[in-house]
Amino acid sequence: MAETHQIPKLTVLAGPTAVGKGTVSTYIRENYPDVWFSVSATTRDPRPGEEDGIHYYFVSDEEFDSMVENRQMLEWATVHNSYKYGTIRSMVERQLKAGKNVLLEIDLQGARQVRNAMPEAQLIFLAPPSWDELVSRLIGRGTESAREQQMRLETAKVELDAEPEFDHTVINDSVPEAAEAIIELMGVER
Ligand code: 5GP
Repeated sequence: MAETHQIPKLTVLAGPTAVGKGTVSTYIRENYPDVWFSVSATTRDPRPGEEDGIHYYFVSDEEFDSMVENRQMLEWATVHNSYKYGTIRSMVERQLKAGKNVLLEIDLQGARQVRNAMPEAQLIFLAPPSWDELVSRLIGRGTESAREQQMRLETAKVELDAEPEFDHTVINDSVPEAAEAIIELMGVER
């Protein structure tokens, strides 16, 4: 008898800073509209072009803390020692109930919490082709100060060590290839 393999509907995509999670996610958004991306809540300010409810729910520190207290967060973390980010539980559950493929693009601390809260989720680690490539991507994008870059690289070293905790690793050498590999793992129809 053929063995049926149930592909999890909830996928977590995490990886070190500057690995290109955002670019890979944009590719998936543009090419696979059936994938539902969770919209996180965050205490940071919107960047130019970002819209409330689309990229993030931009909330105050007080609002965020009360969501945590009321157990509305599936997971949450303080990222890069500054702002809080969290996944809103009810929204994810609603999409899963509707049978959607759900993708969470979150940091490593959040990925661990999802693993505990929903062991059926699959965790995908997006890895750089090499350490040198990660360094040049971070410096090349030029969005952080030298001090901030140094801090993020320190964090990245620790984050890379977490790879064995994940179910799958996808190397982000070419964005379309990495995105297609993720789509394949998610079992999304092409
Ligand atoms: P950015 O401020 O550049 O949009 O995101 C910074 C970091 O926060 C990224 O590593 C991103 O994956 C992470 N992040 C975004 N949303 C969430 C979330 O809901 N939970 C957690 N734990 N991390 C998040």
